[in-house]
Amino acid sequence: MSRNPITPTIPLDAPGKAHGFLRLPYSRNDSAWGNVMIPVTVIANGQGPTALLTGANHGDEYEGPIALQQLAWQIEPAEVSGRIIIIPYLNYPAFRAGTRVSPIDQVNLNRAFPGRPDGTPSQKIAHYVNDVLVPMSDFVLDYHSGGRTLDFLPYAAAHHLDDAAQQAACVAAVRAFGAPYTMMMREIDAVGMFDTAVESQGKVFVTTELGGGGTATARSARIAIRGAMNVLRHAGILQGGIELEGGSQMLDMPADDCFHFASRAGLLQPLADLGEQVVRDQPIARIWPDDRSGTAPVEVTANRDGLIAARHFPGLVQSGDCLAVIAVAGG
Ligand code: CA
Repeated sequence: MSRNPITPTIPLDAPGKAHGFLRLPYSRNDSAWGNVMIPVTVIANGQGPTALLTGANHGDEYEGPIALQQLAWQIEPAEVSGRIIIIPYLNYPAFRAGTRVSPIDQVNLNRAFPGRPDGTPSQKIAHYVNDVLVPMSDFVLDYHSGGRTLDFLPYAAAHHLDDAAQQAACVAAVRAFGAPYTMMMREIDAVGMFDTAVESQGKVFVTTELGGGGTATARSARIAIRGAMNVLRHAGILQGGIELEGGSQMLDMPADDCFHFASRAGLLQPLADLGEQVVRDQPIARIWPDDRSGTAPVEVTANRDGLIAARHFPGLVQSGDCLAVIAVAGG
């Protein structure tokens, strides 16, 4: 296997605070010996654990990038026991394009793990994170939101894991994040996810879904900033107590029927909003024909009792789109 070509322009293990780049060689028509320059900040001081904080794994999700810019700017080495590695724009080409997947290779970074050192730019990023950054980390926080096509209740999430002690450590860190909701999350397709790669290396992993629609709000940005600070306090890297704004409601996605998919394309009429309680068989959306009037809509009904935790964001749907996720109150 070849060596990963990504080179940090700053040392990852030096005390103090440094801002630089992960330099990814990318030879192309407009830059023969060019590079993709992925911003990175390292803040290190004394003994303690390492936290890796990443945003823009998907390029159209903004709470993570906002929070991580704030932290990279604000946190001083004297406040730190251990090390914080901050990458606000992990899939930098996607972030610059404002798109979920990279415009360079059309790869979804969050399905590219553990990556390839000899692959496309996104596969190289995944491989560098998987083989270099995750092994040196104890805690990993990877921010997500709904992007342009989904919207979420603001939650931090952990997964059900085979290792009960690791799962408990992840849940404790997720609860410390202190989002308004705390989710035990089910994935449609966990293969290739950053989450799966980190968890399989035995690390404490926190992910989030903090909003969506391809933008951030004042509230979702506040939740994101406070959450990262809380995780760093929980890890013992920053001093001070966890700051919570009200409680965090526990949610669970116990089965695949939490997901509701569109069986045809059309014009979406929501019948239940985010956070609304619904009961099994209750209509939660209609899909009207997008090519004629006078024809009945397709009605989408709830597969189970619960709370609308996610919804399709754009006004038009395609067949197969995720229309809604219904979560249930958890323990
Ligand atoms: Ca995402």
